[in-house]
This record gives sequence, C-alpha cells and structure tokens, in this order.
Amino acid sequence: MINLPPHLQGLDPRFAALVHPLSKLERIAEGFTWTEGPVWFGDRDCLLFSDIPSRRVLRWSEAEGLSVYRSESGFNNGNTRDRQGRLVGCRHGERDVVRTEHDGSLTVLAQDWQGKRLNSPNDVVVSSDGAVWFTDPTYGILSNFEGFRAVPEQPARNVYRLSPEGVLSVVVSDFVQPNGLCFSPDESLLYIAESGSSHDADVPAVIRMFAVDDGTLTDLGVFAMIDHGLPDGMRCDMQGNLWSSARDGVHCFDPAGALLGKILVPETVSNLCFGGPDGQRMFITATTCVYRIFVDVMGAEPWARGSQAPTVA
Ligand code: MG
Repeated sequence: MINLPPHLQGLDPRFAALVHPLSKLERIAEGFTWTEGPVWFGDRDCLLFSDIPSRRVLRWSEAEGLSVYRSESGFNNGNTRDRQGRLVGCRHGERDVVRTEHDGSLTVLAQDWQGKRLNSPNDVVVSSDGAVWFTDPTYGILSNFEGFRAVPEQPARNVYRLSPEGVLSVVVSDFVQPNGLCFSPDESLLYIAESGSSHDADVPAVIRMFAVDDGTLTDLGVFAMIDHGLPDGMRCDMQGNLWSSARDGVHCFDPAGALLGKILVPETVSNLCFGGPDGQRMFITATTCVYRIFVDVMGAEPWARGSQAPTVA
C-alpha cells in the first residue's frame, strides 16, 4: 500500500503516476437518480451523461455548467461517439441503439434480432472501422424504474456487432448480464463486464477479455475480478490500463489484469470516461452525482484527448 490521500487507494507504485496524489475528487453535478453513460465532446468542450430514470441526457461544461441536452430520452443509458463525431446511445425504453445525426435527427441502428425485440441495450462502443458493438442485458425491462417492464423476447443476453455495412450479428451469447464494454487502445482486445451478480450472487463479478479478429471474438477468459460490487461501465487509457466502475469507486487494472489502485467514490459508480480540455480529467457517473478528477494519462478514445483530439465533423 502506498501513501495517498483518503480518496485514493494505491496498491502498486505505478498508480501514483496515473492519478496525481494531489488531485481532488470534485463533485461537479448532483441531484440525479441514476447517472450513467458519460461521453466527452472535446470539440464542444462538454460532457454528456444520462440520468436514466428521469429520462434525460444532461450536458455539463466548465463554462456553462449544467443543462438538459435531451428530455424524453427514452431511458437512454450508455453513450459513445463514432468517428464522425456523432452521438451513439442505448435506449432502454425504445429497446434500441440510436445515432444522433449532425442535424439532430435520430437514426435507429438496431432494435431487433431474428424478428424479436432486443432486451434493453445497455452500453455501446464504435470501433474505428465504424462497426457498432453493444450489450443487451435485461435491466431496462425488469421494472418500470429505468425502462418499461416486459418479458424478454430474446432467449439470451447477447453482445452484438453491427457491421459498417449494417449487418447485425451476435458475437457473444453466454453472458448472464453483459454490461459495459471497451476496446484496448489498438482494438485488438475487447473487454466486456459481467454484471449478472446483481441478481444472482453465484455469478462472478468479472471482466472478460476477448481477442478481436475481423469482427469476430475469441474468448480469452477472465481479465479481472471486481472485489466490491460488480463491473458496469469501463474505459481504457492510452497505456492500455483498464478503468472499471465498482461499488466503492473506480478500479484501475494494468494490461495484465493486476489491480494498481482505486479512486474511492462515496456512491456506487456506474461508468466513467476521459475528457476535459487537456484530455486529463476522468468523469465518473456515480448514482446521484457526477465527479471529476485529474488523471495523468489520457483516454484511448480519440475524441477524449483534449487538444490532441482529431477534428470531428
Ligand atoms: Mg451499464
């Protein structure tokens, strides 16, 4: 254990080089019900995030503070961007994955599989070739809290890939509840969170790792286990470290799966993203609040790298 302030728990000396020991955990927005789906828009210098039960997507910027980006969001959960800079989100209420075009109109990308409705798409990433990868657990149809209660039509809780040509396929089908997902910096690996312990304590709270090859996945087994709560949203940094949500905060794993340290957060964390004007802030959605902390490493997602971010349309 290394000597750090109370909100940082360093288990490996490398952790202090990733989160500066003087960095503060700041609460930048509060008063929500269940926040999730943070995504940084470097070209607009703002953060978007979901408050799922209130059916809103919120916008926060340093200069302008908090505002409503979208009301009646359809219980929008996870968010990301594609390489054209467009917002791609998962809606529990509509049970679909939807893209927001530059003119503000919405394009539904996926809403059914083999003629039956999806469960409730939860989290989404877009690879650099334009393929859209998303998880489809049942959280959004288990109750009316963050969606509309319904009986699942799909026999499994799949992970899907929508090819750049618009062909949907199942890439993994053996999760109890697949949740957050993210690529390694070179996109050779895909990490997917298993959050099935939310309803069955016998399900291990693990992050699974898959090799990515030409749009297909090969199971490489368990990457890491979460020792408090379960994994939900995740992001990789440019060095290949994986940062995962957990009940007690954000856990940082090195590329080999060793736990380097934790950012301890007062509320259960659902998700996180990198961003900020210099690309060196982590934004953490945690139950009723959003937090921010300085990190000494940038995110793997190109739009999250501040002034180094490529220009997007
Ligand atoms: Mg999630």
